[in-house]
Amino acid sequence: MTSTTTVLAACLCGSNSHPISFPKSSLPVPVHLCHCDTTRHVSGLLCSSYVPIPDAPFPVTSLTQYHSSPEVTRYFCSTCGAPMFVKVRGSQPEADRLEVATGAKKH
Ligand SMILES: [Zn+2]
Repeated sequence: MTSTTTVLAACLCGSNSHPISFPKSSLPVPVHLCHCDTTRHVSGLLCSSYVPIPDAPFPVTSLTQYHSSPEVTRYFCSTCGAPMFVKVRGSQPEADRLEVATGAKKH
């Protein structure tokens, strides 16, 4: 029996795709909804939703980074502009977390 389930996070144009494995014991995963002013202005939406990725970090160097605050870095596709990840700096380096945009899940 497989102890993980893997989803593929991909942008609209297909330039970026990242498989992400979640331990089945972590399902259902918590969803983080954000309605802050920064999120609204960077996305153009009333809110956005992200899921923390276990075992982060992993390579996201193919994406463009934008530091929207000292604590938050947003990653998006340079071609289609799709937001894909957000990195939130914790109080300690080991507390940093990477989250994937829920809409990036490829079906
Ligand atoms: Zn793209």
